[in-house]
Amino acid sequence: SWTVTIDNLRKEFKVIGGVEVAVDDINFEIGENEFVSLVGPSGCGKTTTLRCVAGLETPTSGRILFGNRDVSDVPANKRNLAMMFQNIALYPHMTIKDNIAYPLKVRGVVKAERYDEAKKAAEIMQIPDMLEKYPGELSGGQRQRAALARTIVQDPSAFLMDEPLSDLDAKLKVEVRKEIQRVHKRVKNPTLYVTHDQEEAMTMSDRIAVMNDGRIEQIGTPEEMYSKPKNMFVAQFIGNPSMNFLDAEYDSSTHTVDMAAGDERVRLSVNLDREPGSDDVVVGVRPEAVSLLPDGQGDFSGRLQLVERIGDRILSTVDGPTHDGEIRATVSADHDLEEGEIVGMELNRDRLYFFDAG
Ligand code: ADP
Ligand code: MG
Repeated sequence: SWTVTIDNLRKEFKVIGGVEVAVDDINFEIGENEFVSLVGPSGCGKTTTLRCVAGLETPTSGRILFGNRDVSDVPANKRNLAMMFQNIALYPHMTIKDNIAYPLKVRGVVKAERYDEAKKAAEIMQIPDMLEKYPGELSGGQRQRAALARTIVQDPSAFLMDEPLSDLDAKLKVEVRKEIQRVHKRVKNPTLYVTHDQEEAMTMSDRIAVMNDGRIEQIGTPEEMYSKPKNMFVAQFIGNPSMNFLDAEYDSSTHTVDMAAGDERVRLSVNLDREPGSDDVVVGVRPEAVSLLPDGQGDFSGRLQLVERIGDRILSTVDGPTHDGEIRATVSADHDLEEGEIVGMELNRDRLYFFDAG
């Protein structure tokens, strides 16, 4: 297989009164065996990017390369891509075997050979007993597997998937997610996976590109995106429950930040790895780096609004002087917490992030 390169890709759409820049000069590569996810909020340009790679949209400028070959002028049906979208379109009047073998039939592969390939793919997807059945006789999960098997037989140059799990219920989602990972490990083609769900991206991907307003804010491994977000957008988007943000002032002579906490101010000594662009900074802290203490202790206090048990953790939401007016703290389940009580909170000094404000 090849590397897929997205080189200075730009896509504008003509709209009433001007142009809409859907993709704003983005660059990234998907390695030969790599699984790369594009994540970002609705409308940020994920689908448009994928459709340009697929050849379903013509870029305004920039190129798509498979290996060293510029495929910009190659039509979609000649790019040999396997695509998987939200709606699985199996042909209802064909058996599963014929459905899986269909891409090979289009290519003119003889019957015996294409059925052979269909059987192998069905075995990989663990649906060998379904080959003679019709799509209507299969469960939702089995149909997804059949659709995946059909993409496998193509031995595609790349897999392109646009929110393939978004119509599935929670349990099936996890199941099909695993199947997609299994297929990827097995066939090892470059995969571009589009989702608005950061958790999906975090669990499946080798690397994640976070998109915002047509641009890539940051690209990196799930671990890098989580532990070294480059800016507030990425910090806010990656991780669930999401990071808490507090406005603060930085004093470079004393290496301290000063935060408003209700009527009081909290001053922290900090060790920044770079001088901020201005004295106005935003301190970020993940929910797992906030400790809950009895009232009167710690950096802040606030009223506990919500206590939710999630497995062996508690997600607590406390009124606080943050951008969204609450501090989220995930703590161990042995805390005895009652909604409505006043608690103290302490920020773990070693796990603070600093961003330029505004
Ligand atoms: P995403 O998949 O991240 O939700 P899209 O790539 O679908 O985002 O869209 C990016 C932007 O481009 C949006 O503002 C959307 O309205 C616009 N857009 C997408 N397709 C078209 C089109 N065919 N015509 C006009 N605008 C479009
Ligand atoms: Mg989309």
